[in-house]
Amino acid sequence: MEDNGRRWWRLVLIASPLQGHMTPLLQLGTYLHSKGFSITIAHPEFNPPDSSNHPDFVFLKLPDNLSGPGSFPSFLGFLQALNDNCRPHLQKHLVEIINAQKDESEKESIVIIHDNLMVFGGSVAVDLGLPSIIVHTSSAAFFPAYKIIPQLHHEGRFPVHDSLMQEIVPELKPFRYKDLPFINLPIQDAVESANMITPKSPPSAFIWNTLEFLEPSALTQIRQQYQVPIFTIGPLHKTSPTPSTSFLEEDTSCITWLDKQQPKSVIYVSLGSVANMDKKLATEMAWGLVNSNQPFLWVVRPGSVKGFEWTEFLPEGLVAEIKLRGLLVKWAPQKEVLAHNEVGGFWSHCGWNSTMESVSEGVPMLCQPISVDQLMNARYLSYVWKIGIEIVLEKRQIEDAVRRLLVDKEGEEMRQRAMEIQQNVKLAVSHGGSSQNCLNDLVDFILSL
Ligand code: UDP
Repeated sequence: MEDNGRRWWRLVLIASPLQGHMTPLLQLGTYLHSKGFSITIAHPEFNPPDSSNHPDFVFLKLPDNLSGPGSFPSFLGFLQALNDNCRPHLQKHLVEIINAQKDESEKESIVIIHDNLMVFGGSVAVDLGLPSIIVHTSSAAFFPAYKIIPQLHHEGRFPVHDSLMQEIVPELKPFRYKDLPFINLPIQDAVESANMITPKSPPSAFIWNTLEFLEPSALTQIRQQYQVPIFTIGPLHKTSPTPSTSFLEEDTSCITWLDKQQPKSVIYVSLGSVANMDKKLATEMAWGLVNSNQPFLWVVRPGSVKGFEWTEFLPEGLVAEIKLRGLLVKWAPQKEVLAHNEVGGFWSHCGWNSTMESVSEGVPMLCQPISVDQLMNARYLSYVWKIGIEIVLEKRQIEDAVRRLLVDKEGEEMRQRAMEIQQNVKLAVSHGGSSQNCLNDLVDFILSL
């Protein structure tokens, strides 16, 4: 981008190889490109984005020598290796670009915008004297909850004693100890993860894929801790829609199936791109769905039921029952599904993207948080925004929860509240709304660096 004919801008966006992180980063790149910036997407070799969907970007593959988190005993170990392995190539590449720009008039201004897990982006920026911006693709509340781990550990509150689990953490209202994202991690891993994602030197700014009105107190807390601009520009799938960013192929046949259902009658079930379950739980889910008598669209990601390629875990009798009122797919066009008028509820693991996508369409949720930020997101949904029911994973309770959400008055009231939130999202992303203003401010801020 040319700035008054003097300067050119190249934004180097460093992507993490997780679906829930890659998607918002590509959406952000799309927005910034539409404002005239040149975009480089630096990404690990593992889980690369589909460059053919983004012909305007330059893609820089960072050799990582990894085959994914599964080959590491812990996710932290994977992250550390990812950061260590990707860093040298990025640094070398940027040094080459800077050295090649001998002519002052053709100099590009480089800004590093990195995913919060790709922390090496911040240290490369410090080494090369470049500005850096950190992008958070989880809720704002997740950040202080992670940062506080060493303090809780030091004060003897982590590991958390059973008697404290239901109590609210005074520094993190309204979250309880049991909602903390690191609650199931070994102590050492939790403390090291907190140290890893806490920036060593403050970035020039933060970007959050969230909305001001959804989490005002968490954002106030972060603003008190960091004196740099914080841009809340979410939900990015609304502020900057892109072509598909899925690693897996979307099965669009489910839209035709949805077209044949009754309005607000379908429960959509998906546990995201990472979560796995065992055969017992998956079978319990299937029985609960079948017995609810509601139509259901269920994403069973290949390999997500341990020990099975896809749905071979289902007994034959159950398959026949499923066919009567349900549809199973390997991967759905989720945003389209949630926007479909026939979908009345979303049974989700409460990943942040899924949460944002559901609130943007006014769809209430059944919450089955599994780990990390999902526990906090479920608390937001059920306790703060009151548009979610925490599900108990037993077939009768599942059947009951599905009917409470789709048939009962309780669900109808939640749907009303969800639709009020949807209206506020629409306002935030339209001209003069908070997210739209933040996007404009972000562009001005980058040009001021
Ligand atoms: N998703 C999708 N199709 C599916 C299931 C999920 O497109 O069948 C997308 C979903 O729209 C969301 C992302 O995958 O953007 C999942 O991200 P989230 O943060 O919810 O959970 P994660 O996968 O990181 O646990």
